[in-house]
Amino acid sequence: MSQRLSIAIFAIVMAALPLIPEMPPYWIVLLDNIGLAALVAMGLVLLTGVGGLTSFGQAAFCGFGAYTTAVLTTQYGLSPWLSLPASLVVSGIAAVILGIVTVRLSGHYLPLGTLAWGIGLYYLFSKLEFLGRNDGIGRVPPLQIGSYRMLDAGSIYYAIWVAVIASAILTLNLLDSRTGRGIRALRRGHIAAEAFGVATGCSKLLVFIHAAVLAGLSGWLYAHFQRSVMPTPFGAQAGIEYLFVAVVGGAGYVWGGVLGAAIVVVLKEVLQGYLPLIFGGQGQLEIIVFGIMLVALVQLAPGGVWPWLVGLLPFKDKTQRPDTSIALAVPARAAAPAGPLLRIDNARKQFGGVTAVNDVSFDVGAKEILALIGPNGAGKSTTFNLITGVLKATSGKVTFAGQPIIDAAPQTITQLGIARTFQHVKLVPDMTVLENVAIGAHLRGRSGAVASMLRLDRADEAALLAEAARQIERVGLGDQIDQLAGSLSLGQQRIVEIARALCVNPMLLLLDEPAAGLRHMEKQRLAALLRQLRDGGMSVLLVEHDMGFVMDLADRIVVLDFGTKIAEGVPDAIKSNPDVIRAYLGATA
Ligand code: ADP
Ligand code: MG
Repeated sequence: MSQRLSIAIFAIVMAALPLIPEMPPYWIVLLDNIGLAALVAMGLVLLTGVGGLTSFGQAAFCGFGAYTTAVLTTQYGLSPWLSLPASLVVSGIAAVILGIVTVRLSGHYLPLGTLAWGIGLYYLFSKLEFLGRNDGIGRVPPLQIGSYRMLDAGSIYYAIWVAVIASAILTLNLLDSRTGRGIRALRRGHIAAEAFGVATGCSKLLVFIHAAVLAGLSGWLYAHFQRSVMPTPFGAQAGIEYLFVAVVGGAGYVWGGVLGAAIVVVLKEVLQGYLPLIFGGQGQLEIIVFGIMLVALVQLAPGGVWPWLVGLLPFKDKTQRPDTSIALAVPARAAAPAGPLLRIDNARKQFGGVTAVNDVSFDVGAKEILALIGPNGAGKSTTFNLITGVLKATSGKVTFAGQPIIDAAPQTITQLGIARTFQHVKLVPDMTVLENVAIGAHLRGRSGAVASMLRLDRADEAALLAEAARQIERVGLGDQIDQLAGSLSLGQQRIVEIARALCVNPMLLLLDEPAAGLRHMEKQRLAALLRQLRDGGMSVLLVEHDMGFVMDLADRIVVLDFGTKIAEGVPDAIKSNPDVIRAYLGATA
């Protein structure tokens, strides 16, 4: 079943629910509360489940949305519809400010930081005079369309659920796009994503803002639903509950947020209603039972209830294969001047007392396969990181196509036409091969977040995916195109990395141990591919331990030992070089 059809059916069901005769009004209140929580949880799905940024402070953004509209409508007489953009903008600006401060925190400090502002903002809301301190703001006007006033739970129901469904569609669209791939790479592949030009700092800030605006929307609806605003629902405890909602539903899935909201809201209501009847009026018992049931749910379905439910369905979504006939514009690059394509001139890198690369110089010519070899720890990967801008050199120069690149950012270097693979494979395991490879073409696309949400990016996106599919075919992984990258063998994952690098349309390809983990036949196919790329005009610099592979493939070889270049020459000369033999024998002795 297509996603569109599922959403349409869901929307029809939700629209019909209140029309059921004799539906207890109290159920409608529950559905309203589910919708309000779903909006916040959906933001958390993006922020925490997909982006990996755990936030305990999301309720505070509901507060920004709710208080903004309460102040503007009661104190300035603004119509609620006019205060809606204000509520969203205030939440968004708060997210930018808090996001810039918080996103820099790493590890456990980030969730702790969000908890801190969750608590801090609660006190701010409850202490400010113009927000009514602990009493809050009353007499918030209802939403109104013409003479239709949304005074009760039944009439605001539609406003809430239109907001939920529209937000879900926009969020799903965002995730399924060029920007979305950058977001989905944040949690488990940000180094690679950065190397291919994803501005990960901006992506993080974007999900912060998106999540905050959704929470602000929930707060705005809440204010006009309750018709009053008080600080309590915007405190840290509520923030923790929202996180719970997202985790229970399935923090990686937009619909998981909605389902989680339904589970938690209903469970809480049922427990509050029935437990006192069973156990007498012993207060607080429901919180304990509630906690136990949630822990049990998370045990039963560790990824959340949504993916577990979807796994039970008999039909599976088929991913569409991209139309590979769509062309992607070739990036404009300055023609390389005569002379070597890449020149490394006395490059040096020290890590404290360790000199990983010790004044190394060598060139890579046009249409040349150059192998960099040496025992473990010789400084090969560090040399790669100096060339690609991942590490800053202590001293020395690197020139590419006549331009100095020693202090350039990885993104600039990629744009100039250097693409790489990693010694330790860096793919996003829960994205398909196609999506992973498409990250390589990131800089060749243009569409941003807003265009993606509104689906204005389809032509751009089709061209990116077509390019990714062509490169996957080229490296011989066409059959695996819609499998999850994490399900492939390590050898195949290395080949996926090559396809991703080829999406840059590079002039120079840097491969760090590409043949490791490949079987004999696969190595031969890889060698044939690399020769074909060279003959097509590309230069290749590779690090490899398989000597048979290197001697057979490389045009020239540079040998490093303890960070120092000890030899350089054609394979036959290297084979018989006494220094090289000594370095290798020394390393294995
Ligand atoms: P190779 O790829 O040739 O096996 P590397 O370039 O990974 O070698 O490492 C060269 C030397 O630099 C090693 O001694 C390694 O321990 C050290 N080194 C590499 N990266 C770092 C780092 N980030 N911090 C400190 N030392 C490092
Ligand atoms: Mg290495």
